[in-house]
This record gives sequence, structure tokens and C-alpha cells, in this order.
Amino acid sequence: MSKNIYLDYAATTPTDKKVLATMMPYFNEKYGNASSLHTLGQEASLAVEEARKKIADFLGAKAQEIIFTGGATESNNLTIKGIVQAYYGSKIKDSKKLPHIITTAFEHHCVLNAVKNLEKKGLIEATFIKPEKDGLIAVEKIKKALQKNTILVSVMYVNNEIGTVQPISKIGQLIKKHNQALAKNQSEILFHTDATQAINYFDCRVNKLGVDLLSLSAHKIYGPKGVGALYIRQGISIETIQDGGGQENGMRSGTTNSPGIIGMGIAIKEIARRKREIENKKMITLRNHLIRRVLKEIPKVKLNGSQIKRSPNNANFSFLNVEGESLIMLLSEQGVMGSTGSACSSASLAPSHVLLSLGYQPEETHGSLRLTLGKQTTKKDIDEAVNKLKKIITQLRKVSGNVLADFYQKK
Ligand code: PMP
Repeated sequence: MSKNIYLDYAATTPTDKKVLATMMPYFNEKYGNASSLHTLGQEASLAVEEARKKIADFLGAKAQEIIFTGGATESNNLTIKGIVQAYYGSKIKDSKKLPHIITTAFEHHCVLNAVKNLEKKGLIEATFIKPEKDGLIAVEKIKKALQKNTILVSVMYVNNEIGTVQPISKIGQLIKKHNQALAKNQSEILFHTDATQAINYFDCRVNKLGVDLLSLSAHKIYGPKGVGALYIRQGISIETIQDGGGQENGMRSGTTNSPGIIGMGIAIKEIARRKREIENKKMITLRNHLIRRVLKEIPKVKLNGSQIKRSPNNANFSFLNVEGESLIMLLSEQGVMGSTGSACSSASLAPSHVLLSLGYQPEETHGSLRLTLGKQTTKKDIDEAVNKLKKIITQLRKVSGNVLADFYQKK
């Protein structure tokens, strides 16, 4: 049996050896609770604060502007619900109009569903901006959607399914301009980005982006699962959504996950240390090789999302007359690990909301395949994966061809 070819780095990454080694002592040697006053607790607390500083440095932020969470899902929920909660408790609350949130139709479900749930409860008004056909959000559309009662704009930096890179700093500039023109009694619009899929490859300095809040997750950057962070610009009005012992400056109660946080700090430091431009170039070459081969050697396939404004590690294809789940299973049997948009987060067979948002018909979304590269991916891996993919697509199309032929014969 040949080795597995892992092409699902956007789903999660292996924990880096250095990260793991740094975390280990905090499980059973330096295991103190970071809130405890004794030396064992303070040892953990100091290491957590060092990690906070590393993350702040990476984002060009202050350490006190970073809070640790259980992952990007939590960071995003805290942003959206915490801002709405703070709005309702504030003096700027408008008794006639609901607060308004602008987001995009192809956000990760943790953003999308948090906004939809608040909307369903009658607590907010929401606008879901549709991306253009190439998977990019038009800044003009955001501009048109801004209202007097808008309190928050949330746009993801890199789409997790099709890898398209959104014009975050342009949106940041737009919002800054809008805020500068506000009358004194009007409240400013906050700008949040879910940068979970961007951290590995793109500049995430918050002042360059013009964001007020930014979410990230450790397990997408060769860190451990179940830990994330949220940057909250100093002075922003946001309320906790989790009551308890008041850890993380009252913003996120619960015993500090010191091993996880320390691991995340090292993972970020590793990214900061890397020669990003050179590494990105290498990955783009590898990714383009994959795209070129698939488009050239497999008929009836299309690349989803812009090829240019795309994360270096992402390729996402739609194969006509192929069913995504069967494709993933057969690839997996052959040792190739990929994913399909149509059943990405749950085990549901619902069509991908990302592809639907691009204007695809539901039947066009079924045969989608996301292959995402990472640090360990080689050209040999790509070539082997494409060779296997070619065979499997032919096999699946034969089956779906037969099914269709049977169907028409019976008619
Ligand atoms: N946002 C994006 C863009 C993601 O890709 C993911 C992970 N799939 C999340 C949020 C959720 O991250 P976590 O697993 O840390 O909760």
C-alpha cells in the first residue's frame, strides 16, 4: 500500500513537531491552571502571555487586543453575537430600527448561521452580499448595502471552499471613509474578517487591512485543534457570550487551554519566521501544475473561483456527471484525501452554499472536489493524485452513464 496523499489542508493541518514538543510539558509537568496564584499556575500564565504577544506581533496589534477562544467558530460567534448584545445594552440603540449586519452569502456556516439566527429571532436586519461569478466580493456592492443602522460588516479574507481572496483592505478603506463622514451622534460601523484560511499565506496586519476584529484558528496553521483567537481593536464595544470565571479579560470564561494556546503561539511564530513570498511562489507553481493537468487531461471539468485572486494552496473543480461524495470515497480508497463542498461540514448532501452563491444550478454543484495543498505536498503527490483522479472520474461517469441509460430505457 502506497502512502496517503493528503490534499485536505484547508480542513485541517498536521500539528507541527516543534509545536507539539513545546506543548507537551504543559500537559503533565507545567500543568498549573493559568489563573492560579502559585508558581505552577504562574508558569503557565507567563507562557500564555508570551503566546498572546506572538499573535499580537503577527497581527501588528497590542497583546491586550487578543483573546483566546476555542477556535474560529467561537471567535466568529463571539464577534457577531457579542456586538449585537453590546448594541442592545448601549445608549445608541435605536428604538425604531433594528441594527443591520452586512455579510456575504458564502461565509463559513459559523458566520452565516450566527447572522441568520439573529435575523430569525428578529434581533437584526441582515444583508447577504453575493459574490461575483469568479468568487470575489465587489466592494461597490458593500458600499450600496451600507445603511444608517448598519453596525457590522463581516467579510471572510479567504473563502474556505474555493480559496478566493477578498479585497479586505479595500473594504476596510470604504468603511473608514464612511465612518469619518458620520455625524457625531451616529455610531461607527465595525469591520470584521474571518481570516482563518488566510493566516498561512497573506498579510494579516490589522491596521493594513483596516479591520476592527479578526478571527483565526490554530489547527489551520499547523497548530492544535480546539484553540483560536479573536483580535478586538481596543475600545470596541462587545459583550461576552459566555459567563463564568471571567478569564480572558472577562470576554471568554473557562479554564485557560494553556497547552493549546502555547502551541498556537509557536505555530504563528513559525509562519512569521518563514520566507512567505518564496514559499507562496513554490506552492502556486505546484497548485497551478495540478490545475493545468486536471483541466487538460479530464474532460468536462471546470475550475471554481478566480485562478488569479486565489489562495496558493487551493484548487476546486466541478466535474460534470459525477457525484462528489462517491468521488471522495473512491479517492480515499486509493489513498488520496480531498473534500467536496456539497458535504463539507455536516454529513448532509445539501448542495454547496458557496457554489450556489456563485450562481450555479444545484445539479452543477454535485461533482465538486476541493484539493488543498500544504507544507508536505510534493509534485509526485500531485501527479499520483491526478493519475488516480482521472481513472476514478472515468469509472464514475461510466456508472452514471449506465444509470441514465437505464432510466431512459425504463421510461
Ligand atoms: N472559518 C473558516 C473560513 C474556516 O475554514 C473554518 C474551518 N473550516 C472555520 C471558520 C471554523 O474554524 P474552527 O474549526 O477553528 O472552529
